[in-house]
Parts: sequence; C-alpha cells; structure tokens
Amino acid sequence: MTIERVLKYSEQELSKWDLEHLWHPFTQMKEWSAQGPLFIVRGEGNYLIDIDGRRYIDGVASLWANIHGHAREEINQAIEEQLKQLAHSTLLGLSHPASAVLAKRLVEIVPMGLKRVFYSESGSTAVEIALKIAFQYWQNQGYKEKRRFICLKEGYHGDTLGAVSVGGIDLFHEIYGPLLFETIKLPSPYLRCKGAGLPLAEGAGLCASDLEQVLEKEHQHIAAFILEPLIQGAGGMLPMPPGYLRAAKKLCDEFDVLLIADEVATGFGRTGRMFACQAEGVSPDILCLGKGITGGYLPLSATICTEDIFQAFWGDYEELKTFFHGHTYTGNPLACAAALSSLELFQNDGTLEQLPSKIEALEKGLSKLQRLSPVGEVRQVGMMAGVEIFEDAQQRRPYPLEMRVGHKVCMAVRKHGVILRNLGDTIVILPPLSITLHELDQIINAVEAAIHEVCGGK
Ligand SMILES: *Cc1c(COP(=O)(O)O)cnc(C)c1O
Repeated sequence: MTIERVLKYSEQELSKWDLEHLWHPFTQMKEWSAQGPLFIVRGEGNYLIDIDGRRYIDGVASLWANIHGHAREEINQAIEEQLKQLAHSTLLGLSHPASAVLAKRLVEIVPMGLKRVFYSESGSTAVEIALKIAFQYWQNQGYKEKRRFICLKEGYHGDTLGAVSVGGIDLFHEIYGPLLFETIKLPSPYLRCKGAGLPLAEGAGLCASDLEQVLEKEHQHIAAFILEPLIQGAGGMLPMPPGYLRAAKKLCDEFDVLLIADEVATGFGRTGRMFACQAEGVSPDILCLGKGITGGYLPLSATICTEDIFQAFWGDYEELKTFFHGHTYTGNPLACAAALSSLELFQNDGTLEQLPSKIEALEKGLSKLQRLSPVGEVRQVGMMAGVEIFEDAQQRRPYPLEMRVGHKVCMAVRKHGVILRNLGDTIVILPPLSITLHELDQIINAVEAAIHEVCGGK
C-alpha cells in the first residue's frame, strides 16, 4: 500500500481504527478514547501539521528527539541515498560503512576516553547494554561480588526491566517491583537539597557525601553508579547541584565503581553543550546516547565505553568473555546515515553556537511564567525546562491527581498552536534546537494563556 493511499483514508476511518486497535504509550486509553486522536500528517521545520492542515510548534521536539527541525532536506537526502544502497543488513558477523563512519565520528565528539560504540535502537536498550556491560566487566575480571547498581530516586532510564530496575519514579516503576533486581537508591539530588533547605548551588557536597557513605560501605559489591548528568528529565526536570557530577565521578574512581552517564535526553546539544558531562569536564566510563542521535528521524542509540572496559571482554573464544548481546536492527544503516547527516548539520548550522541566545530567551520566558500565581517553580538546564503548577503555589499544595491539570494545560496549549506534553503537573518545554526566538515566545505565550484558561489566577 502506498503512503498516498494511506493518506486518503478519512479522518473518521483513521480515528475508528486508532480507537479500535492502537494502544498508545504512557496513555490511559479511557481518557484517550474520550478525546479522540489528533493525527499529525506532516512535519516542516519546527512545525507539525495535522490532518486538517493546522500547524503547531513542536514544543516537545517529538518526545525530546528532534534537533534540527522536521523534513530537513539534508537528513532526508542522506536517508534516501543510503536507502538506494541498502536498507538493512546486520552487524552480527558483517559490517557496513555508515556504522563504522558514525562510530568514528561519535568517538571524536564524546568526552575523552570513550572509544567503543555498541549500537541499539532505543534509549532503554542503550541502558540495558550499559548495565550488562558494567556487570560483565567485573565478572570477566573475577570480581564476582561486584554486581549491584547505585541509582537515584526520580531517575529515569527507560521502560525495559533492567532500565526500570535502576529507575526511581514510583508512578511508573513501583508496580513492577517484584520483577526487578535490587538496587541502592540515593535521593534525587534536587529534592535532597530542597529537603535540607540548601540552595542548589551549595548542594553538591551534601549529595556527594550521601554517595560517599554508600560507596565506603558497599563498594566491594557495586558494579556501577548510573545517573542522568546535570538534570533528571522524566522525573520532572530536576536540575542537579553544580559540581555534583564531577564529585560523583571522583568518588566512583576512588572506590573502583564504574560511572554510567545516561545522556539519552541531555546528549546532542540539549543542555547547551554537545554533552552534559562536558559542563563538568567529566568522562564517564560508559555513556548512553539515544533520542537526538539521528536528529530525531530514526530509532538509533549507542552505548559507548572506554578501551579499559572493552579490553575486559577481549580474549580467546573459549574464555567466554564475549558480550553475548545484539539486536536484529543493531546499527541500522538508514539510522546511521541520518545520524551522520545530523552531526554535519551541527557544524553547518552552527547549532551549538546559536544556543546561548535561545537558552537566555527561554530563561526570560520562564521568569515571565514564574510570575503567574499557579506556577510554583520553573526549572531549566539549557533547552530543557519544566514549569510546575500547584493549586496553591505558595504552600506548594498540588492539585488533586484526578484533576489532571498538567494534562489539561497541554491540551489547552494546542488551541494556541503548540504541542507540549506534561510530566504530572510539570509542563515540559523542550523544543527542537532549531527553534527561533520568535517561536520560543509563541510557546511561552501559549503556556501562559493555557494556564490562565485551566487554572484561572492572575
Ligand atoms: C527517554 C529516555 C530513555 C529511554 O529512551 P527510549 O528511547 O524511550 O527507550 C532513557 N534515559 C533517559 C534519560 C531518557 O530521557
């Protein structure tokens, strides 16, 4: 069936099939069936266009993935050219040029010391791979007891079971408890500082000492510490105290524990630098990349580790040190071609060079939203932001869960031509990095209007 034929179905038919047969991710389908689907049929720059021709700014970068806008000629062409050659072959026993070139390019731009690239298709699998590599790294070297993981409350690393085991969001993760492996969970650095009444800027020492205590006691049993550097994303856009990442890396080194940096959300310019780790001069032992790696065009992720880790898997076959892991579509050539083109656009567009003015404009917009009475807090790291709404912002009393206020604000924002998605009552603003200052203004104005409509207030 050609795409023309698909697009000829009426909205009514499509809605019927969606409601009858689709199960949407992270969605209460009862609520969905009451609203009916919004069909996006086209993307153009920073805009999404629906089936009736209405245009919306993609304020959530198509789930935090889009970097350079939709339908960029360069990326489309790179995919097309690769497609004419080869859509897919396997990296199990074979190679192909795009996967090798991309691995080399990635190693050139990631923090120093990271040298070996293992591909998969999603952030979750990049994390699964990191966990398995960290575990086996110690097993292969005879440290059989180093098998536990330290992670953070409010952390998010994906939805597969290993990633959920190191996750810390009760709303998403608690129910799967009986299926998960045990971890040591430290408090969310942001909430720890808040709880202790410390300004974030002064909280690194406190949070690092939490980690130090655990490491002192448990390091012989610990394989790795996994965290999202600089900001916990899906946990509600919770920034970390400056200096915490560097302190954590130092402690991990001291106690012979690997540091896994999950930059699935923060990678590729999102925080203002190519990678968030670079803000604190940190080279993790394992780096997880996903979301923006292809510019948001095709599913691809990468788990990149140091040569030291790689060497622990090196040996004669019968030593059984091999990393027995791989996916059917590992390193898909189309996705690698998109990723190569996206990296080239970073250079040609000066993507990173243009970020400071955008980050500043976002900050200005957020401070405007901060003045609205239902807004209790705004949080931002680079081009990632959250606006948290309360029933009583002064007392920090949340709205009742059943009111679905965050969700309602995001639905109201659509009427103003913007697509956003909430995390609870936190409105997430996370547009493509190609967003213009004018479009940023439009997003802020839409959020302001929507908060007025849904929450009232001044
Ligand atoms: C989104 C995300 C993931 C999971 O990525 P998927 O591609 O959705 O599996 C993992 N880690 C972080 C930090 C994320 O934001």
